[in-house]
Amino acid sequence: MIISLDKLIRKEIDKLDLSFLENVDTIRNGEYNLSTPLKVEGKISNTNKGLYLDIEVEFTFVDNCSRCLKEVQVPIKYLVQGFLVKDDFDEEDFEEDIFVFNGFELDIMDIIDQTIDFEIPLKVLCSEDCKGLCQYCGTNLNIEKCSCNEVANDEDVIDPRFAKLKDIFKND
Ligand SMILES: [Zn+2]
Ligand SMILES: [Zn+2]
Repeated sequence: MIISLDKLIRKEIDKLDLSFLENVDTIRNGEYNLSTPLKVEGKISNTNKGLYLDIEVEFTFVDNCSRCLKEVQVPIKYLVQGFLVKDDFDEEDFEEDIFVFNGFELDIMDIIDQTIDFEIPLKVLCSEDCKGLCQYCGTNLNIEKCSCNEVANDEDVIDPRFAKLKDIFKND
């Protein structure tokens, strides 16, 4: 997704519409595996402060629930807005977001690589109330119950040898 900005820079046009739907397997070399095509919609315009990028990025990636490890589809949709500047830009000129480009073309994948981290949920869950895996036996507690917790909580079934240990801790 490399876009030539020639015409914009030469001011032959004042706006370049972008509309892509591309099959991209991964973002950042496999860090995010996509299960839908990557959609990019928006424009780059000539403003009195330079080229301004305004796009919406949309895709779905596959991850694992952080509690039960089930495969989860994670839809992502976000806006990328900011000025395109060359690397000798003056920071004081911009309060807005900026993206450095080489001066003649823009790689949209590069822009996505730079912005994606802010859009990914910190914790991916299959559902808000996912019960996760039992930490003792690994049973998926969304599907079935195990008896690990009951045993641990029920004083009557504690092995007498351990009961003694328990008393020791109690007096501590
Ligand atoms: Zn889960
Ligand atoms: Zn268990």
